[in-house]
Amino acid sequence: MNILVINCGSSSLKFQLINSDSEEVLAKGLCERIGIEGSRLVYQPEGGEKEVTTAPMPNHTHAVRMVLDALVNENTGVIKSLDEVGVVGHRIVHGGEKFAGSTIITDEVIEAIKECNDLAPLHNPANLIGIDACREHMPDTPMVGVFDTAFHQTMPEKAFIYGLPYEYYEKYKVRRYGFHGTSHSYVSKRAAEILNKPYDSLKTIVCHLGNGASICAVKNGVSVDTSMGLTPLEGLIMGTRSGDIDPAIMEFIAEKENMNINEVMDVLNKKSGVFGVTGTTSDFRDIMDAKERGDKRAELALDVFSYRVVKYIGAYTAAMNGVDTIVFTAGLGENNGYVREKICESLGYLGIKIDKAQNDKKEDERIISTSDSKVKVMVIATNEELKIARETLELIK
Ligand code: ADP
Repeated sequence: MNILVINCGSSSLKFQLINSDSEEVLAKGLCERIGIEGSRLVYQPEGGEKEVTTAPMPNHTHAVRMVLDALVNENTGVIKSLDEVGVVGHRIVHGGEKFAGSTIITDEVIEAIKECNDLAPLHNPANLIGIDACREHMPDTPMVGVFDTAFHQTMPEKAFIYGLPYEYYEKYKVRRYGFHGTSHSYVSKRAAEILNKPYDSLKTIVCHLGNGASICAVKNGVSVDTSMGLTPLEGLIMGTRSGDIDPAIMEFIAEKENMNINEVMDVLNKKSGVFGVTGTTSDFRDIMDAKERGDKRAELALDVFSYRVVKYIGAYTAAMNGVDTIVFTAGLGENNGYVREKICESLGYLGIKIDKAQNDKKEDERIISTSDSKVKVMVIATNEELKIARETLELIK
């Protein structure tokens, strides 16, 4: 069976068509700038060249149409008709407390997702638009929703309740939810497979370090704590997001800079993180280049970023009363050996020793600690689309 995986943002739509038997990606791509001038479809069939089509995409329904047309295109398509798409798996950011796992999408499920919109106003409505658009073009094809938050629904109360008036939890469901669940789940499971250890008896810390970054403590196969909270703003220092700060800073800055709450939130989400510290870029490749040139602020950004990761690893080691394996994943975690080494240098107290040659390699999956290291440190490339496809298939079976 072929599974179409859709990850729909407010102005973008990423897709992969995956064959469930071989788990091969038959085609993948994205629509960018949906509803904005200059929209384009980037489409790449397996083993083929990337093809860029610039054409107006007034809305997501139109974008989905273009994707489907590309998939069945006579020349570059990979299937003959849409009947060959057995099911569509949708990434959905926030499932609140309603969804502790993936689910077949029905009208009731759509209503339940809508009820979580408040908790992720930038993401959930876009995800729903993607579902609507697909249903319009493929009304008889089953759809599955896979939630970023679902994996973390196993967290105990002590990890998800904030030190706030309890009524905010009761009335508004203000609590830690956590995100990147699909990635944390995929990577932690993969680590157990690679180490040939039972997943349900391992203590793993997954460091998902991308533009958005979060850490997750996975104990005996379930998420027991994670650094993002009610929203993806909490926790690590990210590309442009502040991560943890003293909440009193918000009022202080609002007064000093004469900003309202929305403007302060905008700064915390879009102008902070390593972008805020360097003052020039959120991209770690640029930051590395700047550091090489002797830029002190770039070096500071790398220090501040790595130090926060080190502190969270310490905290989650304590939370699990130990750690067997630490895994680095996502754009930065997979590709930046300097940051990995910098983080691990501060973990000598855990008996961690890094094998420099392994750390410097470019393979998707490897152990980068020495054989006598007390904790296995690994790099595992995340694959959220494959995980969504697997969960989708599981439900449809
Ligand atoms: P997201 O999915 O959250 O947008 P990614 O997981 O793609 O983010 O990670 C983006 C970050 O990873 C960027 O800061 C980028 O500089 C870094 N990154 C990606 N590829 C590489 C690479 N080959 N070498 C170093 N850093 C990289």
